[in-house]
Amino acid sequence: MTSLHPDTRAVHLPKPPLNGSVPITTPIYQTSGFAFDDPAVFADGMSRPDGAFVYGRHGNPTVRVLEEAVAGLEGGVAAVATASGMGAISAVLLGLLGAGDHLIAQKALYGGTAALVNDLTRRFGVSVTYVPEADPDAVRQAVRPETKMLYLETIANPMTQVADLPGMCAAAREAGVVTVVDNTFASPVLCRPLEHGADIVVHSMTKFLSGHSDLLGGIAVFADDAMYRKIWSFAGELGATFDPFAAWLTLRGLQTLPLRMARHCDNTRVLATRLAEHPAVAAVHWPGLPGHPSYELAAGLLPGFGAVFSFDLVGGRAAGEKFMSSVRLALLAPSLGGVETLILHPATTSHRSLTAEELARSGIGEGTVRVAVGIEHPDDLWADFEQALAQS
Ligand SMILES: *Cc1c(COP(=O)(O)O)cnc(C)c1O
Repeated sequence: MTSLHPDTRAVHLPKPPLNGSVPITTPIYQTSGFAFDDPAVFADGMSRPDGAFVYGRHGNPTVRVLEEAVAGLEGGVAAVATASGMGAISAVLLGLLGAGDHLIAQKALYGGTAALVNDLTRRFGVSVTYVPEADPDAVRQAVRPETKMLYLETIANPMTQVADLPGMCAAAREAGVVTVVDNTFASPVLCRPLEHGADIVVHSMTKFLSGHSDLLGGIAVFADDAMYRKIWSFAGELGATFDPFAAWLTLRGLQTLPLRMARHCDNTRVLATRLAEHPAVAAVHWPGLPGHPSYELAAGLLPGFGAVFSFDLVGGRAAGEKFMSSVRLALLAPSLGGVETLILHPATTSHRSLTAEELARSGIGEGTVRVAVGIEHPDDLWADFEQALAQS
């Protein structure tokens, strides 16, 4: 090798000298592909997720460590990580549904998912029936011979309805229908839908799993190996590939997920209960409060009630707007699940595509404020909310 020109030596770099030790953290394998000694191993790696790594769109060691970590937390056999939560949801819906198939979905859906389902029905020949999130009989009535999938969210946005996962999954299973659950709002710390009969769990890892508002990512976790291989292959076709550096950041976030979730949920209880007692507040929507339509279901299903809630002010929209422009610590921003407390106005942002009628049907008021609670000190958060309430 000493005879090589500098041009060639600059291209072919030395490998790390690991003389008997291994790194404590997972290295970032920032490479688009992998080189082989054996052509047969190369060919085999192309055809399956558990062969040798070949090309980054089909697998990467850093990403694989994350996939195995999340599959382990959710109790699944394997997982496919994607470039965003919508990447995972698209891979699963487009990968399992085709023209002529029927989908049963819960009414309150994440905005991006609702838009995707609309596209599936308008342009891809999929039909959909919407059901309430806790009504197994509605699933039984909606099932047709061509029904392929039931789609649920553990905790819905922004009114925090909780799905009756055991009942809904059982109704789907009786009919041989696959259940997919978006577990983003609960995280595997509060809920593991596969234990309640779901077949696939999807997450926006942008939220609690990574937890620091610094990346976009998604993942689909599978109870069944054949379904995993099918979506692994299709996600490669879609190109919704997760980046190794984002996977590394997500792994780092994942290590503190249980600690963060505990603090997120404790802080949320403080804010939700104090707001519920405040004279300027008309209603607080959080399943941890008795009186929320999902309170009893949530108390039986979840060890904590999540860190997203909504509330309405007595003064309606004007008061809501004043509140949002008056908070100092909480940030007016999209997303949730990060360490910072974020607030937004669903009617003009996350749910702006809904008609006034659809908004009313989903219980979202003109002045409803959504709060994604962070891990700051709860007294500082309450002091901020209190001063903003005093102005609104
Ligand atoms: C954010 C979110 C998504 C979409 O995830 P992205 O990472 O933004 O693509 C899907 N479902 C829920 C419940 C979410 O909160």
